[in-house]
Amino acid sequence: MMPRRRLLPAIVVVSLAVAGAAAQQQRPRIPPTGTIAKVRDNLYVIPGAGGNTTVFVTQGGVVLVDTKLPNNGEPIMNQVRAVTDKPVTMIVNTHSHPDHIGSNEYFPVSVDVVAHENTRKWMAANPQVASNPATMPDRAFTDRMTLGSGDDRIELYYFGAGHTDGDAFIVFPARRAMAAGDIFAWKMAPLIDPKAGGSVLALPDTLEKAVKGIPDVDTVIEGHGDVNTWEGFRDYVQFSRALVDAAKTGMGKTAEEIAADLRPTFSVFTKDALLTDMEYGGTPLSRAVINVNIAFQELGKR
Ligand SMILES: [Zn+2]
Repeated sequence: MMPRRRLLPAIVVVSLAVAGAAAQQQRPRIPPTGTIAKVRDNLYVIPGAGGNTTVFVTQGGVVLVDTKLPNNGEPIMNQVRAVTDKPVTMIVNTHSHPDHIGSNEYFPVSVDVVAHENTRKWMAANPQVASNPATMPDRAFTDRMTLGSGDDRIELYYFGAGHTDGDAFIVFPARRAMAAGDIFAWKMAPLIDPKAGGSVLALPDTLEKAVKGIPDVDTVIEGHGDVNTWEGFRDYVQFSRALVDAAKTGMGKTAEEIAADLRPTFSVFTKDALLTDMEYGGTPLSRAVINVNIAFQELGKR
């Protein structure tokens, strides 16, 4: 058990983290939909206005992974039009947050929307989202799903809770690339949303299963921010494991001390500076402190 004095601030911090996720829509510093950039061949990414939107141009049409905050359908399509005239035929949502599903509604009801079953559950629980048939997933998967074939094949994977309990990994085997959603975003410890089933204690297990279970990926598109490498993703998985291990064994230390201890080994994920276009506020180091506190709280509940 953790000392009681630690649990009280942890609860406050968790509430703030969740309030932060809800408030992000109103924050004026969110950049608008950015310029489409090629990842590899027929795979592109559009940054800004919430989460990254991955664009996969297949023979039959355009597949979008995530659709940013509401009211970005037209800006997304303006970027898609720069690379293809094909219609959008499918949307895959990595998870249920409004900055990733927000512009689903812009696209015709005939567009096939796919997500993990827990993501569909969280979307169905939100009356505003559930009432719009264009937004809601038409299909949901549990552990694995294959979409399309040949070079257009997409593999969906699910390995457990982390950022939410519906975090899907979207893999484009022919392009050796993956869209990771917010379980890997901004090169920092993820925001944990306990109200959508997120868990910092489950996170390293989930991520390690992804590293073991997903073959032949070189390029990882983060949920927000940059396009990274598989090595960068693997380093991040090690960081997630180290953070939870340190929280478990860090009796007598504060969350700040534990996070500081991680910095020499994991400097990439614990920067003490605000990132450009960072929507959630706070630094990577402050997020690490928050997640150590969430780990304390989750450990206290056991
Ligand atoms: Zn999210």
